[in-house]
Formats: sequence, structure tokens, C-alpha cells
Amino acid sequence: MSTREPGFDTLAIHAGSQPDPATGARATPIYQTTSFVFDDVDHAAALFGLQAFGNIYTRITNPTTAVLEERVAALEGGTAALAVASGHAAQLLIMHALMQPGDEFIAAKKLYGGSINQFGHSFKSFDWHVKWADGLTPADFEAQITPKTKAIFIESLANPGGVVMDINGIAEVARKHHIPLIVDNTMATPYLCRPIDHGADIVVHSLTKFMGGHGNSMGGVIIDGGTFDWTKDDRYPMLSEGRPEYNDMVLAETFGNFAFAIACRVLGLRDLGPAISPFNAFQILTGIETLPLRMQRHSDNALEVAKFLQGHDKVEWVSYAGLEGDENHAKQQQYMPKGAGAVFTFGVKGGYQAGVDLVSNVEIFSHLANIGDTRSLIIHPASTTHRQLNADQQAAAGAGEDVVRISVGIEDVEDLKGDLNQALKSL
Ligand SMILES: *Cc1c(COP(=O)(O)O)cnc(C)c1O
Repeated sequence: MSTREPGFDTLAIHAGSQPDPATGARATPIYQTTSFVFDDVDHAAALFGLQAFGNIYTRITNPTTAVLEERVAALEGGTAALAVASGHAAQLLIMHALMQPGDEFIAAKKLYGGSINQFGHSFKSFDWHVKWADGLTPADFEAQITPKTKAIFIESLANPGGVVMDINGIAEVARKHHIPLIVDNTMATPYLCRPIDHGADIVVHSLTKFMGGHGNSMGGVIIDGGTFDWTKDDRYPMLSEGRPEYNDMVLAETFGNFAFAIACRVLGLRDLGPAISPFNAFQILTGIETLPLRMQRHSDNALEVAKFLQGHDKVEWVSYAGLEGDENHAKQQQYMPKGAGAVFTFGVKGGYQAGVDLVSNVEIFSHLANIGDTRSLIIHPASTTHRQLNADQQAAAGAGEDVVRISVGIEDVEDLKGDLNQALKSL
């Protein structure tokens, strides 16, 4: 037996899976069932009381989904994970476990647009309040901390501007004030960056993007870093106080360094209900097997396309952390040296109309609102996702009239450059 710890690429294929004990099936079967038969009445009682691990009902656990959870936990270096229906469902369950009515959390302003809506508008109905950090430095986050602050939320690589966050520095602020740091690692994936290694306590993903990677299945996941002490004070009662529905069990005492993942499952997922379908879990698992190959190719293609655009006479500017001279390049080298990912923005000469014409003229790139597909994708935010904003708001959101965002796929890079070239030339 080898004594070597399996490497990342091996874990991407094997972590959590084994030949199916019932049939010998080598690929993980899709357990497309809602419910599971108990051995006997005592077994049922133990499962319902959280005294034994096992399956009851697919809203709470499922064997296909369990393989996905174990695999992602291994890739991120966490103690446990919980897969759910979407990235936004994962964010909701995290906050449900951390926040009480009236509580606050601090978030970076550079976030996925859907998260800005969820935090700024929908969470208000739960009486959970986001405070936006003014800038991106650790001091900007520390300045917003109050006695009600229960979490700090950032993206490792922020969509769409390609901002690389100072995870170590922000984690230090979080630790000093005993607040968990949550990192959305959707754009980087654990192949490029592992936030727990840099001090994050909780990692969250939209599996819909690069993890599944083929643009065919929605999913989300929460990874418990196992690093946070929930019983140090009484600020996280979901974890540190007895739960009446489980015979006054204290989750942090019973489940130790994976109590957060358990709380999200047996309180959040059980009661709010956004379960992932076993079929989607299977599709995403299959995608993850090639994550290392895809992310390297996405990043290599994106760097080459970014350099090509930089030298194009119809292009005003290119913002990609992989480019030498980019303001995020030093942090990219520190946090994600293997590559800067697939997504970046550039400015096209000729403003709004040029942006509209460009997305109309491409042939290989698909004009749509997503990222993280094998296929190359393009969007002009000012005429689509950010259309309802006025010019000042668009500029503040990094979605000015001339801005075009692309998610570079894993096709032949010469074809991608050729497609952009013919579309730019026709402007
Ligand atoms: C897409 C996305 C989300 C939301 O995920 P869904 O699976 O669409 O719910 C959250 N964060 C980032 C960075 C994303 O790109």
C-alpha cells in the first residue's frame, strides 16, 4: 500500500466513491428514490434521533448526493459538506444556521449580482441585515463590525471584475473578532484556490458553474472547514443551545468539528427544503472528475484570449488577473498561481452599440447569462443583466456601456480568437 496522501486529481475522481456494495457498479449509481426502508423500529428511532447515520428521506440525505458531498469536502480540505439545490439555496442555509432576527453580516461589494439581491433585499424579510464593506481591504471589513455581526462573506475571485480577495488578511480580522469567514469559491474552484488553507471557516459554491462544468445541472454546496468554535460564546444558538426537536441535543457538542454541516442539514435543509435531485448530483459528480483538466484549460485559454484582446485595435482595455500588469496580478500569483480562471471583462471601442453588435456577431461564443460551461459564453451587461440601472449605477457595478464579459470555454483557442476577431472587425 502506498503511504502517499492522494493528490488533488486523484481525489477529484475517487473521493467518496467505491463500487456499489449491492451491484458492483463502478460509476456512482443514481439512487432515484424518495425514501429508504428501515431495518426495524429501533433503527428508525436511532435515525430520527440523530443517534445513527443513515438514510430516511431524500430531502435530508441520499446516497448519490452523499458521494458528491464527500468528494467536494475532500477537494476543499473541509470536514464535511452539504449539497443542495442551487448556490443561492446554499447561501440561504448558511445564514439560517448563523443568524437570528436583527443580526448583521458583512459582505464585500464585489459579488455576484444575484448575491447582492439576495443579501440586500430578500434577507431583509428574515430580519437579517447585510452591511457592505466600503472597500476590499481587511480594514474595510473590520470597520463594519458591531456586536450583532455574525459572519463575513466574500468571493475568492469576484465575478465579474476578476478581483482576487485578500483571504488571509480578512480571515485574520474574522478570527480576532471570533466571527466565521464564509468564502464563495465558485469562480476559482478548489483546483485554483482552497480558501480553508487561507483561513476561511465555511466555503460555499454554486455547483451550477465550473464544478459541474457542462451547463446542464443546478446545484450548490456548503463546506464546513471544521475550524470554528461555536461554543466559545452564546452568539450561535442554533449550534450551541439544546435543540428541542432532538431531545435537547447540542449540535456543537455532539458533532464537534462538523457540527456546522450537520446544523445546515438537520435544521436548514430539513425545514426549508431545497434538496438537490440525485440526478443532478450524479451529473455534477461526473463533471468534477475532469475539474483539474477543465480548469487548467479554461485558465490557459482565457489568458491567451485576454492577451489577444489586449493587442486588438477595437478593444479599449482588458481586465484579467492573469495578465502581468493587471492590478490583481500579484494577489492572483499568491492565491491562485495555476491560473486566473475563465471569466473576465473588456471594453469595446464604440460604447453601447459596439457591445450590442459584438454579442450579435459572434458565432462560436453563446450570448447568454451564465458562466462556467465547457462552451465559451459572452454577455453585454449594460443591455441585459444591468439594463434596469442608470448610467452611473452601471458604471459603479462594473457594467458600463462598453463592458463585455466572457467566460472562456475549453474549445480550440485559435477558434475562439478567430471568432472574436471576425465579430470585432465587423463593428
Ligand atoms: C451563479 C453564482 C451563484 C448562485 O448560484 P446558483 O446555482 O445560480 O443559485 C453564487 N455565487 C456565484 C459567484 C455565482 O457565480
